[in-house]
Amino acid sequence: MNVAFKQPVHSTPTLDSIAEALLLPSGIDGVYARTAAFEQIVGGLTDLISEYRGPATEVLRFPPVMSRRQVEKSGYLKSFPHFLGCVSCLSGEEVEIRAAVDRHEAGEDWTPALAPADLVLSPAACYPVYPLAASRGQIPAGGLVFDVACDCFRREPSKMLDRLQSFRMREYVCIGTPAEVDVFRRRWMKTAEDFAGRLGLSWHIDYASDPFFGRGGKLMAVSQIEQALKFELLIPVHSADKPTACMSFNCHRDHFGTTWNIRTSDGEVAHTGCVAFGIDRLALALFATHGLELSRWPAAVRKSLAL
Ligand code: ATP
Ligand code: ZN
Ligand code: MG
Repeated sequence: MNVAFKQPVHSTPTLDSIAEALLLPSGIDGVYARTAAFEQIVGGLTDLISEYRGPATEVLRFPPVMSRRQVEKSGYLKSFPHFLGCVSCLSGEEVEIRAAVDRHEAGEDWTPALAPADLVLSPAACYPVYPLAASRGQIPAGGLVFDVACDCFRREPSKMLDRLQSFRMREYVCIGTPAEVDVFRRRWMKTAEDFAGRLGLSWHIDYASDPFFGRGGKLMAVSQIEQALKFELLIPVHSADKPTACMSFNCHRDHFGTTWNIRTSDGEVAHTGCVAFGIDRLALALFATHGLELSRWPAAVRKSLAL
């Protein structure tokens, strides 16, 4: 029997072949060296996301560490203590530091000499923006939008290429009245359709919840879904059954406004919302969808990414 197969434009690469070509292992799960081809796509994505930036948006690029005090005050320890990475350092007199180093050289454990610093690894790009906005006084009428980014850390080691411990997040953040934040988030959920379409990605948007810590966390997650506080743009990276969240659309209501005493021009507590792009996941989704050879990607996608 003669069966004619329709040849796909490319053979869909397995995630293992993607890893080999694009993300080189470091010996630690969820931490990779990124190759030039991967970074080329990251660069294209970064510029494409910037195309959607409104004129009055303030751009801030944060370092991968932030104030421990700010993360504590933001309530992160209550919700996600299992993800947080804290910076710890050797400190004290020279003899104390020397003793720790000597223990290492003698093949012993030197790490008990580490003491927590006033820094944590940033778990999301938007946390530092709220105290910064609060320090400037009332939010002007019409609200504020920021464009922020940083390398993020979450202690969720995994062998899956789409769940990293160290990954890059870009966000647009809105601070204003409840109505302003609502309009911002709705508009972005619509814009994301255009964005994913320009990248030739299959997607759907669904309700989502954050993985809050512990038993109490399950209730918080249910309530988050009931109140439609989080949506995700999901893309089939491994499979259509278990698609990967590559963007999220979050409403924090008055959480950060109350925490940092951010006030709108009418004196009310400000509401906040953010739309987050998982940059490494989006890049991975592009390779998983279009293959490893950039020259064979659809022309429209290549144009969107300025390849
Ligand atoms: P997930 O449900 O997949 O854990 P999340 O709800 O924790 O995602 P957010 O906190 O909304 O994700 O973070 C914003 C975006 O950052 C996500 O939509 C995703 O694209 C990306 N992201 C989050 N965690 C990781 C991770 N461990 N590795 C890579 N990207 C991530
Ligand atoms: Zn955010
Ligand atoms: Mg998560």
